[in-house]
Amino acid sequence: MSINTSKRSWAEPYKMKMVELLKTTTRTNRLNAIRKAGYNTFLLPSEDVYIDLLTDSGTNAMSDRQWSQFMLGDEAYAGSKSYFKLESAIHEYYGYKYIVPTHQGRGAENILSKVMIRKGQFIPGNMYFTTTRVHQELAGGKFVDIIIDEANDPTNLHPFKGNVDIEKLDNLVKKHGADKVAYVSLASNVNMAGGQPFSMENLKALRKYTKIHNIPIIHDMTRVAENAYFIQKREKNYAKKSIREIVKEICSYTDGATMSAKKDALVNIGGFMATNDPHVFEEARNLVVVYEGLHTYGGLAGRDMEAMAVGIKESVDDRHQAARIGQVIYLGEKMESYGVPIVKPIGGHGVFVDAKAFLPHLTQDQFPAQALAAEIYVDSGVRTMERGVVSAGRKPNGENYYPDLELVRFTLPRRVYTQAHMDVVAESVAEVFQKRERIKGLKMVYEPKYLRFFQARFEKL
Ligand SMILES: *Cc1c(COP(=O)(O)O)cnc(C)c1O
Repeated sequence: MSINTSKRSWAEPYKMKMVELLKTTTRTNRLNAIRKAGYNTFLLPSEDVYIDLLTDSGTNAMSDRQWSQFMLGDEAYAGSKSYFKLESAIHEYYGYKYIVPTHQGRGAENILSKVMIRKGQFIPGNMYFTTTRVHQELAGGKFVDIIIDEANDPTNLHPFKGNVDIEKLDNLVKKHGADKVAYVSLASNVNMAGGQPFSMENLKALRKYTKIHNIPIIHDMTRVAENAYFIQKREKNYAKKSIREIVKEICSYTDGATMSAKKDALVNIGGFMATNDPHVFEEARNLVVVYEGLHTYGGLAGRDMEAMAVGIKESVDDRHQAARIGQVIYLGEKMESYGVPIVKPIGGHGVFVDAKAFLPHLTQDQFPAQALAAEIYVDSGVRTMERGVVSAGRKPNGENYYPDLELVRFTLPRRVYTQAHMDVVAESVAEVFQKRERIKGLKMVYEPKYLRFFQARFEKL
């Protein structure tokens, strides 16, 4: 075989210095474990998991540089040196004026929602996110989905399925008035759509529209660098720009942000809220002391802020993202080669298997994605999670949300697993796919009031 010189392989821009040993389990062990966990992969002890693709949140491997900064953490209660390092990294790489650190993303969402939402206001956004929407609703707001329709079709190959449908936004504004819109909640690389990016062109159009109507854009920037990677690869005029430049440009068209640094920013814990509005900043700074801690640590240790400052820098490195997203695409293409139905295009932080297409004999009330995640765990000890009717939860009036997408998410932690692990995962899914007709649905036997997917319990039908 001769080499295809136009398609040379990428490889990780790092090597390993320490490894974590994993336990092996038998099928019988795993059958018992999942039954005990109420068929909810969130309730499995991680010790019983072989390859953990539950989430990319806080599961990243930190670099030697991040670990070394741990020793420099300034644990002063007030005015920590580490806070100023974090602040300056956020200024340099994202450009927002004011920041409030929080223990993780939802801490930032809580404060921002309380400051910016008045009771009865609407918050239009490019698809909901679980914790984001809960905080919007608890603050008295109502989320309205304004993502383009293509995002709800797992087979549609639109390159920017995270785009906002500005006509949907305009209809909302026409119907209720711009005053009733608290802000546009804009997520980069939309998690719930399968890690799908928006385009710079769409963001610019949204900026233009919101300027006219005086509506702020609040950026859920949890995966902004992954979004920037797709803009660099797919959008005209961006091929020669660095991810670092693209990230800063994205942020420049928005008025504030919430960040879960446990994703892009390569740390195990941390987050922040950012804004360019001095009034929002002042109120947020007042609230953070109630919910998180003083405004110069927000529930974080000094060392966490040190690691975050370095992680932000590493996250905008072009070679890092090429390997990160390259691995996700490798896994997705491998599953596809076995005929497994997945969301296309393959997203930035994981591969999303279409459980409706995988298990067409189950109705959505039988929780097909939940059942499939349990089955994959039993086959190989690979832990995934449901992103479907269980995750969607209930409306404030008590009815179930029935999302169009019923998915099992294979989320890849950054810098943790190897290509051989990806092969094991794909082969396991392929084997379960061969036996798919035998997979039974589930019934929910315990349902918590908020964010039920974390703790709900099920039994086999
Ligand atoms: C994880 C996540 C959050 C919430 O952040 P936590 O750090 O888990 O509290 C918010 N938005 C998106 C898009 C996320 O992926």
